[in-house]
Amino acid sequence: MIATDDAVEIEAERLFGSLMHVECDPRGRTWNLDTCREIAPLTLEINRLKKEQGAVILAHSYVEPEIIYGVADFRGDSYFLSMKAKEARAKVIVFAGVVFMAETAKILSPAAKVVVPDRQSGCSLADSLNGDDLRKLKSLYPDATVVCYINSTADVKAESDVCVTSGNVYHIVEHLPAKRILFVPDRLMGQNLRDELKRRGVQKEIITSDGTCMVHDEFGPGDIALARERYPGLKVVAHPECTPEVAAASDFVGSTGAMMKYVKTTGAPYYLMLTECGLVGRLQVESPEKAFIGGCRLCPYMKLNSLEKIRDALKSPRPDQIITIPEEIRLKAARCIERMFELAPTD
Ligand code: SF4
Repeated sequence: MIATDDAVEIEAERLFGSLMHVECDPRGRTWNLDTCREIAPLTLEINRLKKEQGAVILAHSYVEPEIIYGVADFRGDSYFLSMKAKEARAKVIVFAGVVFMAETAKILSPAAKVVVPDRQSGCSLADSLNGDDLRKLKSLYPDATVVCYINSTADVKAESDVCVTSGNVYHIVEHLPAKRILFVPDRLMGQNLRDELKRRGVQKEIITSDGTCMVHDEFGPGDIALARERYPGLKVVAHPECTPEVAAASDFVGSTGAMMKYVKTTGAPYYLMLTECGLVGRLQVESPEKAFIGGCRLCPYMKLNSLEKIRDALKSPRPDQIITIPEEIRLKAARCIERMFELAPTD
């Protein structure tokens, strides 16, 4: 069905209402009414297909802004999105993010058809460790409780005792009875966890595997020192996937959701966001009165998502776009995530 000129114009104006604020565009585009008119037929088509198929589109905060504000039903971090997918009881879930996130949605919503726009959208962190690697590690530390960060594959979750997010990792590990923790797959978050437990006076041995996020690993304390010199009053906001040196030099360290809340509820002349650039784009739309400094670090995997691929995945998904997980692994991975729900703080 071809959209009428009027429908395209109305859609372009809707898109422009949000996208006009995006200065930090991953492809360097300036969002004006003309650029919005170009994508409007596609967002209209996707939103129509979505309704016809009883689908929901989940968009991680790191994907391109036209996905987040053009077609997404929910936007946020992987945990929030998977919970929303579960609550929505959709027949079809399109996960515009990376593959491990779509796997988490499938683990929690097994009856839904979960599709990814691009099967190559991996993750340097999640892909650093598979189930076999973890089984080998576990054999070296048989007495350790295995804690996996949610940024991990389904088979790693299936081999772990409890899953955590960047928002609840400190609380959950602090309250586990075990003294020895095998934390996978993020070495840097494991180091930050070790430092935080020490600060809290909690004695635990934290053993980590060697994965890192290729985006957050890149920031250094030098970036912060330089920015503070140039921008007095600057607040530096970092994700716990950054190095401990960066975490120590920042004003606030927290999950994607916590970082957004911090910016929205503090008053500072400038903010330096040490995370993927997409989050800055979201903040520019949702808090246009705030000023952000610093360059853009992009996750190449997240940027494999596009409106065209979302449309094609909805219309007729190829087998490689459909997420499947053997039931035995799914059930074990679901147990690991349920454990997190039981142990996470309730606030
Ligand atoms: S930003 Fe880092 S953790 Fe997130 S998907 Fe990209 S590589 Fe993985």
